[in-house]
Amino acid sequence: MTEALERFLSDLDAEIRKHGNWGEVADYIPELARVDPAQFGIAVSLADGRIVTAGQARQQFSIQSISKVFSLACVLGRIGEQVWTRVGREPSGRPFDSILLLEQEHGRPRNPFINAGAIVTTDELLTGRQPKEALSEILAFVRAAAEDDDIHIDKAVARSEAETGFRNVALANYLKSFGNLRNQPEMTLGTYFHQCAIEMSCVQLARAGRVLAGLPDAPRLLTALKSRRINALMMMCGHYDGSGDFAFRVGLPGKSGVGGGILLIAPERASIAIWSPGLNVYGNSMMGTHAAEQLARRMEWSVFGS
Ligand code: GLN
Repeated sequence: MTEALERFLSDLDAEIRKHGNWGEVADYIPELARVDPAQFGIAVSLADGRIVTAGQARQQFSIQSISKVFSLACVLGRIGEQVWTRVGREPSGRPFDSILLLEQEHGRPRNPFINAGAIVTTDELLTGRQPKEALSEILAFVRAAAEDDDIHIDKAVARSEAETGFRNVALANYLKSFGNLRNQPEMTLGTYFHQCAIEMSCVQLARAGRVLAGLPDAPRLLTALKSRRINALMMMCGHYDGSGDFAFRVGLPGKSGVGGGILLIAPERASIAIWSPGLNVYGNSMMGTHAAEQLARRMEWSVFGS
């Protein structure tokens, strides 16, 4: 199977490079606006411990919202079910940076993967601690999951977002006005921008995702129940208002980031990371989604059956 997968990924890489309809890079974060959209990499970590790659699988990129999966895992480890008093677990059907439902729902964000929800989970991680300590916890989780210590935060990206992230400033202040932010908005946001600026390659991210796929060689960092639940949230909310379309086309839990990364989980089979920085209208990787669709179909990995 590994050889067939290798061939498939290298054909997919060639096809995308020839016909790529790349989409647009995120331009509201100046550091990300400078990235060439016409890039592609993929890494598939399999249950037998092997990792199959194609394209720019070792090139590091900004994981952005994929970090929300790891911060949620840390919060669940810390306070468990209590987190659901501050954030919901329903799809929002709204863009990732939407403020609309917050008023209606009295400052309790719909889910931990939209920005408002992730700002709340990061705020929770800051309880009684300094930003440095909260960030160390997230980084330690990611490094342990990937079994790779060479994973860092790109401070220039964090700074760039801090200078222009006015929507997030609005969201944090709005959350604070409802009493759903414990720390000062600047402190929570500073931490959130830094967690989003973690840089990883597809190989590192696919390795980190093994804990969610429940692969035999994955470090034991999450209970099976927790990883099932995070997968459910990824399926329903991982691609914002594009989550339905993603589930329809791919049939696997996934989490996107505006850096063009996608973490895709085929439970008990594989953990997959895809990167292509050009985005579709939902802010999800255009060619990454295409690749996820082709891969899931070819491998018959959809959770809805083969
Ligand atoms: N840091 C980005 C933001 O808050 C993350 C968004 C994303 O990746 N969808 O806007």
